[in-house]
Amino acid sequence: MKDIFIKFLFPFYRAHSLLVSGKKHVLMFHRICADKGADSLQLNVELFRELLIYILGHGEIVGIDDLFINTEKNSAVNKYVLTLDDGYEDNHSLLFPVLKEFNVSATIFLATGGVKRGYLDFDMVQWTLRKSSGKEFAHPLSGISIKPFDPDEYLSVSREVIKSLKTISHSARVSFVEDLVSHYSPPPLNRCMLTWDQIREMSNSGLVSFGAHTVNHPIISKLTRSEALFEIESSKQDIYDNTGFYPKYFAYPNGKSCDYNDETVSLLRETNYCGAFTTVPGFYEDAVDEFNVPRIDVTSDSITSRNGRFNGEKFSVLSSSLWRYIKQFRDRLS
Ligand SMILES: [Zn+2]
Repeated sequence: MKDIFIKFLFPFYRAHSLLVSGKKHVLMFHRICADKGADSLQLNVELFRELLIYILGHGEIVGIDDLFINTEKNSAVNKYVLTLDDGYEDNHSLLFPVLKEFNVSATIFLATGGVKRGYLDFDMVQWTLRKSSGKEFAHPLSGISIKPFDPDEYLSVSREVIKSLKTISHSARVSFVEDLVSHYSPPPLNRCMLTWDQIREMSNSGLVSFGAHTVNHPIISKLTRSEALFEIESSKQDIYDNTGFYPKYFAYPNGKSCDYNDETVSLLRETNYCGAFTTVPGFYEDAVDEFNVPRIDVTSDSITSRNGRFNGEKFSVLSSSLWRYIKQFRDRLS
């Protein structure tokens, strides 16, 4: 469906691009993988390389601080900032070598509790269901239950469970994950997040800066004020304690406009963050509030043709404001 939109809209995009050149775009990624990737949060490393080549042929990649510097009004050069959320280990093993190869910078937003434990709650849910026999599970406190399922279908079951977990309170989510693990008793889950050694190595290279993404990756709008303050302050302190740098920027977990609120922004300002990033699509303009910076979610589906090959035209449409209208139209249809 998206390909049809792109084909139809690309001629309009060409005209439109004359109006939007010179914009700053913040690209959002999560995991980089060596294979096809199990879900939309994973992007193949070769596709990532091709994307960088395309971007560098059509604009420049700048550091996150450049976003907030007023540039020359007449500049027609598109600027791109690379950001990655969560802090997965592949950001060191697969992303970092590519950043060094192209000598470009990126910012990684860390969920510091994940760095400490080695995984996020959602990873544990997926792992537990993957290793389960597919028997049913009920959790009255959260109201979430799992019907008996074919273990081969664990990915789609996990997706549904994770979707439900984003709608409940953080304490109910913690209780759900604990009970799920004791119900299915999976083998230990191996570390999939970065270590502090890897984070320091990347930080020392000067190519990677780190921002905060809370401790436990909760939906902040579902927290009490003191819980939200803990997530915002402690993630900042964790990064300072382990790197010697206070993070300047923050990324809201899940990042939609309903996932944080005015109180979250006040807490971020009070704790001296300089800006915060959402997952709301759009490009940065000087008038954008620095605590509501939109980003462009780059998935393999959004930058490849049906044959799986990299498609620069598709990326161009994605990174223009036209994408916002396509998305709104598509959401209305679905
Ligand atoms: Zn996240």
